[in-house]
Amino acid sequence: MKYEKEISRRKTFAIISHPDAGKTTLTEKFLLFGGAIQTAGAVKSNKIKKHATSDFMDIERQRGISVATSVMTFEYKDFLINLLDTPGHKDFAEDTYRTLTAVDSVVLVIDSVNGVEPQTRRLMEVCRMRNTPVIVFINKMDRDGKNRFDLLEEIEKELKISLHPMTWPINSGKEFKGVYNLHDKSLRLFTASTKADDENVISISNLSDKLLDAKVGDRDAEQLREDVELIDGVYGELTVDDYLSGKIAPVFFGSAVNNFGVKEMLDTFIRIAPTPRDRETSRREIAAGEDKFSGFVFKIHANLDPKHRDRIAFLRVCSGKFERNKYYHHVRLDKDFRFSNPYTFLARTKDVIEDAFPGDVVGLFDTGNFKIGDTLTEGEDFYFTGIPSFSPEIFKELVNKDPMKTKQLEKGIRQLTDEGVAQLFTQFGGTKKIIGCVGELQFEVIQYRLLHEYSAACEFRTLPFYKACWLTSNDEKKLEDFLRFKQSNSGEDKDGHPVYLAQSEWFLNTEIQNNPDIQFHFTSEIH
Ligand code: GDP
Repeated sequence: MKYEKEISRRKTFAIISHPDAGKTTLTEKFLLFGGAIQTAGAVKSNKIKKHATSDFMDIERQRGISVATSVMTFEYKDFLINLLDTPGHKDFAEDTYRTLTAVDSVVLVIDSVNGVEPQTRRLMEVCRMRNTPVIVFINKMDRDGKNRFDLLEEIEKELKISLHPMTWPINSGKEFKGVYNLHDKSLRLFTASTKADDENVISISNLSDKLLDAKVGDRDAEQLREDVELIDGVYGELTVDDYLSGKIAPVFFGSAVNNFGVKEMLDTFIRIAPTPRDRETSRREIAAGEDKFSGFVFKIHANLDPKHRDRIAFLRVCSGKFERNKYYHHVRLDKDFRFSNPYTFLARTKDVIEDAFPGDVVGLFDTGNFKIGDTLTEGEDFYFTGIPSFSPEIFKELVNKDPMKTKQLEKGIRQLTDEGVAQLFTQFGGTKKIIGCVGELQFEVIQYRLLHEYSAACEFRTLPFYKACWLTSNDEKKLEDFLRFKQSNSGEDKDGHPVYLAQSEWFLNTEIQNNPDIQFHFTSEIH
């Protein structure tokens, strides 16, 4: 393998969580270990506290200028780690789901007080679809959380994944004393720390050692012995292959804000997390180690600064070596492009790069040539598959308020949907444009951007749809009849694929039952 050295030192992952579980805090601690930042508090949260357009716009403007926060690259013990940021806010869930297609593994943060929350469930569904390896970090152990055995059971049941504890906590809340590392048999006593250090770690290879009692007290020492015996009996040793195939998720307990239990996880992460993996395409599997370059666009970021209207396409390198100024084949457009200022995201500064390797993310300036899911190669024609669109949950009709600007509106909405801000459906037998989003906030964003970037004024009219399903069938006649019969509830997506727009769950289930020859899909592959 030509680039083996580079590939084997790269790990590309995302931290995912329900908002407020501690993703930003944990990200900051990771960067601290990586030496990318020196003190805590340096990672800006791009969270949206209120549901207001102005907040969002401010944040997006900041992000537009400093998109560096979207990918954070740091080095830790000779590994080069690419940490892809995922917005926690539900209204940007699509963005997060797409980002998950560009990573090789994830760390899932769960709040020990709240347990599994709605966004946790959805994110895990996406991971399960792709068999993404998951490491779980149970955060906020310094607060009085749920019973840890109950919590593990809840996570296993709700997220449909088997867990494997790697560390085990001694109490929680005010009584929290630390974690016992089941793997290397050491005890880490709880202290709040903002620096990355190895103090307060005591090796206790034999749990009957009286040192344990001396450190945590007789009662807790006894409890730990019992717990560990139980855990050893139930779980045994972790099989790394089960983790890599997404069957089992190793679990760590800690407190991100106190930088506690984080290092244990990071050390395990670099030991077991996958290096850039092979990927499916429309033609064949592409191995990360192939000589020739290939990659795909998983995110497009618009620059809202009116002076710089360009967009940035985020390309995940999948194989070979990406080089600055070299011509690459844009498969969908069947055209060659080269990039004179591709940039990387090393240590939160934008740097022009000369080359990049599998697992890396490169930012490409774009003037409208890219759509989410686009593939670049050295000439071969294939698309990376498995980049999903999810059924939107809110539907509105796009109403043009300025007939003189119809062209601008059409262009704007096409570009915004290419960026993945929303999905566009056209109703059959009419020109009614239906915009589908996962959150209300996105409609405000679209309206704002259409006006400010394309000078097109629009309004939205709420539609009574509940879900969009993509339809397929082996019996074309049956599908055609169905679409004709359900004209006011059907249409096509931007690529001409037929969709059924259901008014309610009841209608949807009825149609699914009444039409066994038609398949209703809740996600669609971009390719
Ligand atoms: P995010 O929305 O998932 O990015 O969450 P943040 O990292 O912003 O954390 C949400 C809140 O939880 C903040 O006020 C953090 O200070 C707090 N927090 C994070 N980790 C811990 C922890 O280990 N213990 C406690 N008590 N609070 C924490």
